[in-house]
Amino acid sequence: MFEMPVIDRQKCDGCGLCISVCHCNILVLVDNVITVVPKQGCMTCKRWCSKCEDVCPNAALSWPFEVVIE
Ligand code: SF4
Ligand code: SF4
Repeated sequence: MFEMPVIDRQKCDGCGLCISVCHCNILVLVDNVITVVPKQGCMTCKRWCSKCEDVCPNAALSWPFEVVIE
């Protein structure tokens, strides 16, 4: 299963804040837009710390699923 943050390229302004908080160092800027570059042999963001989503001022990062509490 391939689980990584989902990027809304239209919202990203290239501020780089998410890069500075990412434990896994899988976020890079390409043409001033954040891009996920999985490390070799690591296909999943294992930490799921959500810091990238929390720190983004433009809500450009989200997760490919939602947790539903019933
Ligand atoms: S959830 Fe954490 S480890 Fe995963 S991409 Fe975001 S900042 Fe990086
Ligand atoms: S924090 Fe948000 S706006 Fe800034 S580079 Fe990351 S995704 Fe783009």
